[in-house]
Amino acid sequence: MEAAGIGTSFQGGVTVIANFIGGKHKSGSSERLAPVYNPATGEIASHVALASKTDVDAAVAAAATAFPAWAATPPLKRARIMFRFKELIERNLDRLAATITAEHGKVLSDAKGEVIRGLEVVEYACGITELLKGDYTEQIAKGIDGWTMRQPLGVGVGITPFNFPAMVPMWMFPMAIACGNTFVLKPSERDPTTSVLLAELLQEAGLPDGVFNVVQGDKSAVDALLDHPKVKAVSFVGSTPIAEYIYSRGCSNGKRVQALGGAKNHMVVMPDADLDRTVDALMGAGYGAAGERCMAISVAVAVGSIGDALVDKLAARVRELRVGPGTAAASEMGPVVTAQHREKIVGYIESGLAEGALLVVDGRERVVPGHERGFFLGGTLFDHVTPDMKIYREEIFGPVVCIVRAADFATALALVDEHEYGNGAAIFTRDGEAAREFSHLVQAGMVGVNVPIPVPMAFHSFGGWKKSLLGDHHAHGPEAVRFYTRQKAVTQRWLGGRAHGAEFAMPTM
Ligand code: NAD
Repeated sequence: MEAAGIGTSFQGGVTVIANFIGGKHKSGSSERLAPVYNPATGEIASHVALASKTDVDAAVAAAATAFPAWAATPPLKRARIMFRFKELIERNLDRLAATITAEHGKVLSDAKGEVIRGLEVVEYACGITELLKGDYTEQIAKGIDGWTMRQPLGVGVGITPFNFPAMVPMWMFPMAIACGNTFVLKPSERDPTTSVLLAELLQEAGLPDGVFNVVQGDKSAVDALLDHPKVKAVSFVGSTPIAEYIYSRGCSNGKRVQALGGAKNHMVVMPDADLDRTVDALMGAGYGAAGERCMAISVAVAVGSIGDALVDKLAARVRELRVGPGTAAASEMGPVVTAQHREKIVGYIESGLAEGALLVVDGRERVVPGHERGFFLGGTLFDHVTPDMKIYREEIFGPVVCIVRAADFATALALVDEHEYGNGAAIFTRDGEAAREFSHLVQAGMVGVNVPIPVPMAFHSFGGWKKSLLGDHHAHGPEAVRFYTRQKAVTQRWLGGRAHGAEFAMPTM
């Protein structure tokens, strides 16, 4: 059944977010629906249809049918569509950001920021003609030339988390498509609308039907995608337990898989750090987007004598944090995504208390007037956290910062290295030697020196180490070209003149 309206249909009086398959909005074939909340009010704003295996089969079939013609489309033509898509994103920035804020809850300026970070990947994909160039060597032996080319894989799949409903899908599909693949996106069921808007903009940009498809859904849709024989590559971003599952099931089905997982990003604050700037950085990196960022700073390691001053200054700022709906210009931090996620974060705060950490600022009772049923929490700050505590070991993914005290640089570095996650790590210092040593030695994939959230730009690649990434390639940038293509090497001789007879030895120079 085709759906009415912009990616929605009305079933039994409720608004249902639809799939986008083969260039059309399609209602799900199953009866299963999930609620989509407005986190600022706590109300159900719409429902999303959870795709069945039949829906997934339809999406993969559309992508597989579109693949041969799209792969044969010259890269320059693919790039031109990316240029038009870029313009359309710019024109629709406010609409996209408003949709993100309505379903995710983050403040509007932050929602715009994530669209722009996604847009940068589209800009990079506009240069695909340059990126797909192979190598050529004339005369590798007498009368023989050799070259390499990179060819698309087929149908790619993206499975994405709730916290960046525009940016994380855009880490994946612009590069996958520009490389000549077709794509099926399975966005988070908690904020499903943005992906449908992106599908509409791609269509408006001139992308042929079936090249980009969206299936809404949960584990059932994911499993059907992982098991589908026509799916060749799977990009996943989400929590580590699910990343491990996706990696193992996808690989055992013979697919190329990259699975980016969770994080526990440390900021090492050296005794010589500029305190005011460090506190500014910690406020944004710890509490921006209510801590629901994989690159959020959730642990600050105070080295030596700086601990008390850092905690005093930071606590004063956390108490002043302006918490409110993402649509209000004055809000610095919006709600968390669901009531269930709020409860999970509250559980972590209780566990920190039970395990003996010092709760310096308690965000549990924070109420936003006029939004009493919204999923709000205030900023929360723990001091004297130790590595054995659950709030240190596990990813909380909420507005909770833990201060750990360390006697010296070596102890601080060892803390980062011994943690099972290795997404990002930052050092704040005025000491160039300490900063250089940190960057060189630290066991994390992305490092900030006086930069709290060191997310690489689109023309570099994004990815963590240890349990923060499973697979061989990082996301976007040059690594995405390698992930979404396979190399072929051609060795060529044009025969002429006399035959020389068969050769049985390994060819050498
Ligand atoms: P999640 O793991 O719950 O969900 C991610 C995706 O997996 C969603 O599309 C979801 O529908 C699907 N999924 C959930 N349970 C599944 C199951 N049992 N089987 C198959 N599929 C399943 O993650 P989330 O809560 O949406 O997002 C937050 C997590 O994402 C955090 O851990 C965060 O660190 C991580 N994240 C990591 C990065 C990174 O770059 N490393 C970026 C953003 C978010």
